Amino acid sequence: MSADIILGGGGLASSLAALALRAAQPGARILILDRAGGPSNSHTWSFHGPDISPDWHARLAPALIGDWSEQEVHFPGHSRRLRAGYSSMGSEGLARLVAEAGIETRWNAEIARLDEDRATLADGEVLTALCILDGRGAKRGPHLVTGFQKFVGIEIECDAPHGIARPVIMDATVPQEDGYRFIYVLPFTERRVLIEDTRYSDGATLSDNELAAEALDYAAARGWHGREVRRERGVLPIALAHDAAGFWRDHDSGPVPIGLRAGLFHPVTGYSLPVAAEVADLIAGTQPLTTAAIRTRLRAFALRRAREDRFLRLLNRMLFRGCPGPQRYRLLERFYRLPEPLIERFYAGRLTWADRLRIVTGKPPIPISAALPCLPEKPLLKGET
Ligand SMILES: Cc1cc2nc3c(=O)[nH]c(=O)nc-3n(C[C@H](O)[C@H](O)[C@H](O)COP(=O)(O)OP(=O)(O)OC[C@H]3O[C@@H](n4cnc5c(N)ncnc54)[C@H](O)[C@@H]3O)c2cc1C
Repeated sequence: MSADIILGGGGLASSLAALALRAAQPGARILILDRAGGPSNSHTWSFHGPDISPDWHARLAPALIGDWSEQEVHFPGHSRRLRAGYSSMGSEGLARLVAEAGIETRWNAEIARLDEDRATLADGEVLTALCILDGRGAKRGPHLVTGFQKFVGIEIECDAPHGIARPVIMDATVPQEDGYRFIYVLPFTERRVLIEDTRYSDGATLSDNELAAEALDYAAARGWHGREVRRERGVLPIALAHDAAGFWRDHDSGPVPIGLRAGLFHPVTGYSLPVAAEVADLIAGTQPLTTAAIRTRLRAFALRRAREDRFLRLLNRMLFRGCPGPQRYRLLERFYRLPEPLIERFYAGRLTWADRLRIVTGKPPIPISAALPCLPEKPLLKGET
């Protein structure tokens, strides 16, 4: 046996699972395999304060590169300061936590194949374990129909203080292009700021140069000049329809998918950190630590989560299918007038039935005639709309 558990891919989901396992089962031999040459700073993973448990806050604290007690949103019709905290973790920081916990990561390990009890590397080496998880990131499949959240972020070390006190998680006062467009701003230090141009679009094509230029124009318009220190980009799935039962039927053998590989992300934001932390706890609490035992528990968790997320996918269908691109911001603008505890539960994936009712009642955000065709989810999965 090469290890007790092998995690294919050393990204967010695998790293959180490994950390939780190390804490719960200190004797377990954990091995992470990743094709990359080493830790990179390609990701900033952020989350809202209420999204994760106090234990996870404490565990991730040493890897945070930003931690704020408030956040803001801006729309043409109103601006709002929200009292929920917001935190950002760098991918290098997370890799450091994993290494400091004594978890072995093999870099430059291109996985050719994962099976229920083994990982085969591209060079032919075979590594065996009682438990094999697949956290190699998103893979398109027939059970998930998505729109896209596309973004390019540029981090600048400004020549002078930028004057931003807290994250601006959406500034939608910018011209609306390619769907719902907003700028996302994270002020890491008094001079260091990340500016991200983001679009909720029907297509996955991302024009890096265009979005980068827009982000820089936004910075220049605010007088933020300086040196670019980092860039990040992403095309994240936004779930419109999901057949989780079908997905898990197709994965009733082989390695257990986790993270984006398993469609485990917030349907509206594409964020996966909060659910990855929950899944990590589930994995860490599983005995015996076998592929079969984890599959049983994770499948039940994922099916329940997919049922609970039905309403969020409906909101997405209204946004993407019921609302012309330039008007999409109106839905978000309306949402951000709702009570703050509801907004916090929305991000944390804990909406109550009363919350759902509150979101859809009142003056309809889109005409009933446009909303009705969005109601059924199944036709999208069959490719009918
Ligand atoms: C730039 C960016 C910023 C994001 N920001 C946030 C955020 O702020 N908050 C949030 O919650 N979500 C965010 N997301 C969305 C989502 O949470 C991330 O994409 C997250 O990293 C997904 O986690 P994962 O573990 O499923 O996949 P990943 O973190 O992408 O990990 C997959 C890993 O598998 C490895 N791999 C793939 N194939 C192989 C192979 N054949 N052999 C070996 N290794 C392989 C890759 O090198 C990679 O390290 C962001 C996404 C991006 C792209």
